[in-house]
Amino acid sequence: MTVARRPVPGKKLILAVVDGLGPELLDRAIAAGRAPTMARLAAAGDRRDDCVSTFPSLTPVCLAALLTGEHPSGSHIPGMTWYHRGERRLVEYGSSFAATLAEGTRQMVDDILVNMNLVHLSRRTTTIFEFLEDAGYVTAGVNTYVCRGRVRHPITRPVARRLARRIGIVDAVYGPRRYFLGELFFTDLTGAPHNFGGGIDRHGGAVGRWLVTRDGFDFLFFYLYETDAAQHRGGDVIGAVEVADSGIGMLVEAAGGLEQFLDRYAVIVVADHSQSAVVQAADAAAPLAGSALFESSRRSDPDRCELAVTASNRVAMVYRLARAREANGRIAERMLELEAAEVVMYAEDGWMHVRRDEGEMRFRRGPGEADPRGNRFTVEGDADLLSPQLYPNALERIEGALTCPAAGEVIVSAAPGWEFADSGGAHHVGGGSHGSLRAEDSIVPLITAGFEGGPPLDGMPSITDVAPLAARHFGVSRPVRQAASALAGVG
Ligand SMILES: [Zn+2]
Repeated sequence: MTVARRPVPGKKLILAVVDGLGPELLDRAIAAGRAPTMARLAAAGDRRDDCVSTFPSLTPVCLAALLTGEHPSGSHIPGMTWYHRGERRLVEYGSSFAATLAEGTRQMVDDILVNMNLVHLSRRTTTIFEFLEDAGYVTAGVNTYVCRGRVRHPITRPVARRLARRIGIVDAVYGPRRYFLGELFFTDLTGAPHNFGGGIDRHGGAVGRWLVTRDGFDFLFFYLYETDAAQHRGGDVIGAVEVADSGIGMLVEAAGGLEQFLDRYAVIVVADHSQSAVVQAADAAAPLAGSALFESSRRSDPDRCELAVTASNRVAMVYRLARAREANGRIAERMLELEAAEVVMYAEDGWMHVRRDEGEMRFRRGPGEADPRGNRFTVEGDADLLSPQLYPNALERIEGALTCPAAGEVIVSAAPGWEFADSGGAHHVGGGSHGSLRAEDSIVPLITAGFEGGPPLDGMPSITDVAPLAARHFGVSRPVRQAASALAGVG
């Protein structure tokens, strides 16, 4: 492919995202000698274990945060599943990512790839792929399904393309210039092995090796999926980290070794979120029995419903529908009756309200002491309700979730060990999960190497800092929204 290329002022940039990799898991893998590449990158550069995810700490929300630099308030992606007020239906991004990567079902192409990127992901924000392509750089993405970019990609497999045309959905996505998603999209023939029956990260590693060998990008988003899946099902977790590590190792080898690799590339290795063990599952709608609840667009008329409840992993949201009678505070109180509910939050009268156990606080942007990320909030009530050790960057993240126009009015973060069953009753009891505000779901390792002048992020880093860092790295101005005033967009 011929591309008008702009010379890169410094190094090219690789962003590797290992889904669900927490600091402790990375330590165990390194101690067992099964993550040698990440260990070498950390030794050559910098590793810190205080990077904070967004909230809800769920993959679509987090990938959107990494690619746009926005919490849900700016990305408009509030969760794995949510109630679409305009279309009066539930949106499900689905959890069977492995199956969809291999097969490309209608559900995936429709809601995940097309709607999430082109309709749900806010038009007022700009992805790394978009702002770098606009500046003349070549971007590439491997296996990321949050992928909005400037280049139209028809679905590569003829079968899936014909299916997409027949059922009348869009048969292309807009992504980075070089885009690879399992068997569904590939802009170049790389000779990577097929990924049917698993092996997604091995396949991704082979695609990445091909890209590095051909010097095929200025920016690469290299997404590794299986570490998250292995933890959910309680499988061979260290084995999955090892495969992810060897995928990154294939990039290093393709460049001729670590030294040459870091001469050519600045590298960020990060996770989207972490995971914690799940021992019990709960029905998030249970405390609201007795209210008229929206079940699905086929079975329910939202004009006759009071509330809709969406739940997935370790977070649940309650939406007010036409017949809602109770105040948000009362709904929050009822949700707290659930043993699985730990922190419940809602917005009202210009304040963000938070409840946990018997305690209560409210906050909004305003005069107050600056937090470790420079935010200033006015806090009233129990100021110590959310200890920063247990709930890192809590106020910024709660604000980022509650002020998302697509989020529910009341949001519930799960207690340790608990998960909310999804709409199909599925859960991960016996395995791991994530989604809550708590540190064990939210704190991720951040490895940076090859940056001129040392580690590129200081203060308390957030995964929302990566997109601004990419813009700075390439000297590109990134279109930035006006900072949301406290409750802009709620309702
Ligand atoms: Zn997950």
